[in-house]
Amino acid sequence: MIAGVETGGTKVVAAVAHDASPGDLLDHVELPTTTPAETGAALRAFLDRWDPSRTARVGVASFGPLDLDQASAGYGSITATVKPGWPGVRIADLVGGRPFSLVSDVTGAVIGEATHGAGAGLSDVSYLTVGTGIGVGAIVDGRRVAQRSHPEVGHLPVRRHPDDAFDGVCPFHGDCIEGLASGPAIASRWGRPTRDLGPDLDRAVRLEAWYLGQLVASITYTLVPRRVILGGGVMKLPGVLDTTRAAFARELAGALGDRHPAADPSTFLVPPTLGDLAGVRGALELATQAEESAASEASEASAA
Ligand code: ZN
Repeated sequence: MIAGVETGGTKVVAAVAHDASPGDLLDHVELPTTTPAETGAALRAFLDRWDPSRTARVGVASFGPLDLDQASAGYGSITATVKPGWPGVRIADLVGGRPFSLVSDVTGAVIGEATHGAGAGLSDVSYLTVGTGIGVGAIVDGRRVAQRSHPEVGHLPVRRHPDDAFDGVCPFHGDCIEGLASGPAIASRWGRPTRDLGPDLDRAVRLEAWYLGQLVASITYTLVPRRVILGGGVMKLPGVLDTTRAAFARELAGALGDRHPAADPSTFLVPPTLGDLAGVRGALELATQAEESAASEASEASAA
C-alpha cells in the first residue's frame, strides 16, 4: 500500500493505491484545508482506514514554502506561509508518523502529468502554474530539478506591455511577472475578481498572454522542455491559452528553428489532463519511486 497527499491552500486531496499499480487509485478523498488539527485528523482517518498499521509510504506534494533540506532540523515542515495556523506544521504529524517523501505542489503536478497525463512519455517537461502565484515544476532528462524547492520563475523581470501602466503587486519587485500576471495582479489591475472581468476580459487576456508568452519562452530557452503544461486558475480564463500560444510564437520569432517542438505551439503548450488529481497522482508516483530506491539500497546493502 502507498498513499499520495496533495496539500493545497484550499483543499487537501489524498489517495491510496497498491505499490504495484500506483496509477490505479483504490480510493481518494478531498478535504477542505481549515486548521492543521482539523484537516490533519480527517486526513489521518482516511489513511488509517486503508493502512491501520501506519507503515505505508506517503508521497506528499505541498503548498509552501517548505523546508526540504534533509540536513536541516526543520526538514519536512511548512515554513513561513501566510496561511494562519500552518507555519511550522510538520508533514510527519499530518500523515500520522508514516514514512513520507515531500516535494512542492508544482513539482507534484509535473510528476503526475509526466507520468500519467499531458507529459506522459516525455523525459523533459515543464508544468507552469499561474494562479495565486506563478511557479514552474520541471523534469529534465527524466529527473526533477530543484530537489529543495522549484524554480521561482514568478520573480523574473519581463518587458512591459506598452499600454500597461499598472504598478504590479509583488511585495519585493512590484512588476516582476508574478506582480503583473498572477491572479491577484489581474484582480488588482482591473478592480474585479478574475472570474468577473466582464467587458475588460479581452484586454485582460491580451495583456496576460503578452507576459506569459515571454515567460514560456524563458522556460523553453533554459529548461529545454519538449512540452510545457499550463495550469492554475488564471489559465481557465476564456481564450487565454490560445492567445498565449500566439504570443509565445511571436516571442520566439523563429529563434529555435522550425523543427523544434516549440515551433508548433498548439502541441507544445497544452492544458493539464489530470485536472485536480495531477498533484495527488504525482505524490503517489513519488511514493513509488521512494519505495523502489529504498528496495534497491536494501538489496545493495545485503549484496555488500
Ligand atoms: Zn517578484
